Amino acid sequence: MAATGAAARDRFAGRTALVTGAGSGIGRAVALAFAAEGARVVVAGRREQPLKETVALIEERGGEALAVPADVSRAGGAEALVAAAVEHFGSLDVAVNNAGIFRGGAPLAGLPEADWHEQLSVNVTGVHLALQAEIRRMRTQPAGGAIVNVSSTFGAHVTTAGAAAYSATKAAVTALSRGAALDHIRDGVRINVVSPGATATPMSLRAGETERDRAERARATLPLARISSTQEIAAAVLYLASDDAASVVGTDLVVDSGGSL
Ligand code: NAD
Repeated sequence: MAATGAAARDRFAGRTALVTGAGSGIGRAVALAFAAEGARVVVAGRREQPLKETVALIEERGGEALAVPADVSRAGGAEALVAAAVEHFGSLDVAVNNAGIFRGGAPLAGLPEADWHEQLSVNVTGVHLALQAEIRRMRTQPAGGAIVNVSSTFGAHVTTAGAAAYSATKAAVTALSRGAALDHIRDGVRINVVSPGATATPMSLRAGETERDRAERARATLPLARISSTQEIAAAVLYLASDDAASVVGTDLVVDSGGSL
């Protein structure tokens, strides 16, 4: 299958990739990109229908994928995903922990306690549980594995009001990933982070804003004058998951059009 742009590549031929939050947005683009480069893909998320749509898009293009519904914030969710990858495709070579939620848009003092806990449980506990399940499998494999966690530029340096709690969870994702990378690189498991800035999904729209409004805002604010596409975030994820990045350990790759929206 042809990759976009230059000559087709098959960096993931014969490998199995797991992508969480793959029924929409960045996760779907990542799943499609892995399949386009030869991976068999386990697409995971809470709701089955969007996952099936991602699988259909992959199969239409001649790829192979399996939809596995799971809530990554629940104990056992990630283990079930790893087990499904191994059972159906024989190994787990790559994992992308992308599932995440944003609850905010208003000052922190008014954030409902449930929204705080929900963000922590999906964005932080979800990544923690996934890392554990993935590492435990990958370190038993002769070829090890590579993991990419999706954080956010807000984690390192939030510049937008209304995102305090979300930003705290993303700072945790980046710190957790870097620490885990140091703990497990000698087990053959290479862990890195991609931190997107504003990307073309509904998550980067302000309340009541249209895509056209967002494009105007990006033109006025971002050095590149536009936000990133989901394919551009996927390209960064694939690089870090590939052997091209064999000596890249615990890095946080920022893809943000040069600034924040
Ligand atoms: P999205 O809402 O389309 O994708 C998030 C996916 O995660 C959805 O498919 C959702 O169903 C899934 N998900 C949520 N909770 C889950 C759970 N408990 N278990 C399993 N799946 C769950 O939004 P997106 O923009 O594609 O976001 C993907 C990632 O990128 C998120 O981690 C987000 O924080 C991060 N991010 C997005 C932007 C942006 O501007 N869009 C910027 C920085 C970081």
